[in-house]
Amino acid sequence: MLENLEMPTRNEVEYTLLISLFNHNGVIKEFGAGEEIVDEIANDFGLNEEQRTAYLETVYTKENRVKRSYLWHRLLFRAADSLAKEKLVSRPSKTILITNEREWMLTEEGYNRVLETLHIPLSQKDILPIKSYEVQKVVKKIYEQDRPENYNPIEKNKKIVKVTHEAKLRNRAFRQAILEAYSYKCAVCGMKIYSPNTLQWEVEAAHIVPRSSNGKDDIFNGIALCRLHHWAFDVGWFTLEDNFTILGSKRIYYLPTGFGNLWGYNFMEQLSNKNLTIFLPEKEEIHPHPNAIIWHRKNIFYP
Ligand SMILES: [Zn+2]
Repeated sequence: MLENLEMPTRNEVEYTLLISLFNHNGVIKEFGAGEEIVDEIANDFGLNEEQRTAYLETVYTKENRVKRSYLWHRLLFRAADSLAKEKLVSRPSKTILITNEREWMLTEEGYNRVLETLHIPLSQKDILPIKSYEVQKVVKKIYEQDRPENYNPIEKNKKIVKVTHEAKLRNRAFRQAILEAYSYKCAVCGMKIYSPNTLQWEVEAAHIVPRSSNGKDDIFNGIALCRLHHWAFDVGWFTLEDNFTILGSKRIYYLPTGFGNLWGYNFMEQLSNKNLTIFLPEKEEIHPHPNAIIWHRKNIFYP
């Protein structure tokens, strides 16, 4: 009887699950009854009511018990289980240790597989907001690092030459930790916008002490800025006071007329506004460290 239902094959479900993970930023909730994702993937396959509600009965003779489970749930679980065996996703029991949620999450390998399938270059991983188990592990470390009182924002052991696999994961983790902490919003102007396909955020994770000066990839040396403010910060048009108010360069007053205008609004003048405080994450422990800000003021900013 079940054969007449013409359910999708496991391979088809595996494929669709991977794509679905990609479309949900690399993470989907464990399939319990009623989870949206179960219906969503069923919709992708155009399953009818009968296919969605068909159930299997497992008879446990010893316990004299019959267990019923939805065939569709079972198919989904089997497909996810098989992806986990291939190391393309992490199991909810493993993901929960880093996200506190029972979720299936793409691994780096799974992420690569999806990008290949969709003909997206691997280099896009630096920009796309897709989570992977390996990167989230580093993100967790970044968030959990104790806030040192005597913080040095500069990496002492200058590690150069090779861009290792770990360094790449670290870059992505830094970016993700900062953007999440600032809710994908520019700390200066509050701009929050993504691409029409919702896959790319405009905001960037800026280093306060730049990478070129061996600035650290941690939460104390980072701040989320829109492209315009990122650029203005990096070239020294503005900096921050220890209390996180914006300090604009005096050179702004000597700019030729019409410079720094955005549709009649002067973006440069805004930077010279006294007492304008930036948006910060709620948790104080992850605010930028004053030592990083002091370094920026001394070395990058033009008073
Ligand atoms: Zn901005």
